Amino acid sequence: MYYAYKYRLKPSDAHREELDRHRDICRQLYNHTRYRLNEYQENHGELPSMTTLRSELPDLKKWWDGLNEVYSKVLQTIVERLFDNLKGLSKLKKNGYGVGQLNWKPPREFRSFTYSQSGFKLDKKGGQTVLSLSKLADIPIRLHRAIPDDAKLKQVTVKKEPTGEWFATFGVQIDREPPEPPENPEKCVGIDVGILKYAHDTDGTAVGSLDLSAERERLEREQRKLSRKQHGSNNYEKQRRRVAECHANLRRKRRDFLHKLSNYYAREYDLVAVEDLNVKGMIESPSNSRNTASAAWRTFLTLLEYKCEREGTHFVAVNPRGTTKECASCGVSTDKPLWVREHSCPACGFEANRDANAAWNILSRGLEDVGVGHSESTPVETALPTDTDSVSAKRVVESGSPTLKERTAKAVSE
Ligand SMILES: [Zn+2]
Repeated sequence: MYYAYKYRLKPSDAHREELDRHRDICRQLYNHTRYRLNEYQENHGELPSMTTLRSELPDLKKWWDGLNEVYSKVLQTIVERLFDNLKGLSKLKKNGYGVGQLNWKPPREFRSFTYSQSGFKLDKKGGQTVLSLSKLADIPIRLHRAIPDDAKLKQVTVKKEPTGEWFATFGVQIDREPPEPPENPEKCVGIDVGILKYAHDTDGTAVGSLDLSAERERLEREQRKLSRKQHGSNNYEKQRRRVAECHANLRRKRRDFLHKLSNYYAREYDLVAVEDLNVKGMIESPSNSRNTASAAWRTFLTLLEYKCEREGTHFVAVNPRGTTKECASCGVSTDKPLWVREHSCPACGFEANRDANAAWNILSRGLEDVGVGHSESTPVETALPTDTDSVSAKRVVESGSPTLKERTAKAVSE
């Protein structure tokens, strides 16, 4: 499996200059190649072969001194990537899609370059870890988490964020077979990420969505300030950086939360059942506010799926049709408007929180999909939580889990 490990670089001022210089040479090569390819395509009606294109690099280096200062594999990667992108575009065109050309890139938009296969390594210099980049520099790097020993470093991409910070992302291959999910999953959970606010699970936990209103307000404030600055001035540039920092901060917080929540479920359970949001999207007509939240939950489910695979946990995405209407106890469907937050079954008298009821249905369907027999006793009959424990997203961020320490302690003592 391939993994990405991202770390912050700690470049000195001299390193920064070097990084920017390399970035700019790469950008020029990108723009030059883009121009060449478009020209070729107009004259010949098709793209040159990758071999032709690659063979032009040595000639280019004869008159373009700057290119010799950048590690050759870095240059090759730029040419190859551009070629692949254009190829993708022309394929789309052939299939009748109206797609534009790749654009010329101004300095601000060309942010990263990649060392592939060779020319980079992690090293120790003067008591600190550095990322050693061929023809560039040894740049201090903050390895806040270790790359596993059996991982093969395939490539590293160094990128300048709009905030001015530099990051290194390693593409890493680990040839470890992920563990097989157990045949008889014991700890199973259904999660209803239903309507925006809460993710309800069948263990009686309801995790709130992350409150980022303070961060959003700050972003808006900084954006307003930016609009009052004179475009291109020093102050404008400073303020633009502040806005970028706000954006980065929001993104970081959101991802951190979703990472921790998905980690928890993948590690804690043998089977995790959720609704298939792709199907759900077709059933429910989305409003705008719902789209924002559902984008976050989509990210959550993507993270959850890949973490489940890594941990050897069943991940089941079930058909969401009617999960809120159906009674988790007897299976009878009753229409329920959105504002009715309680499920109360007219057929069997079962009462539960609306989302908890949905979560139970999701779990039953998940168990059915995996072929685990829970048919005789529905989960509801065996272990229905009497009340719901509402958990703030903040607690997940701080403790890495939606489970209260006290609750765990209590469960142990019982
Ligand atoms: Zn019922």
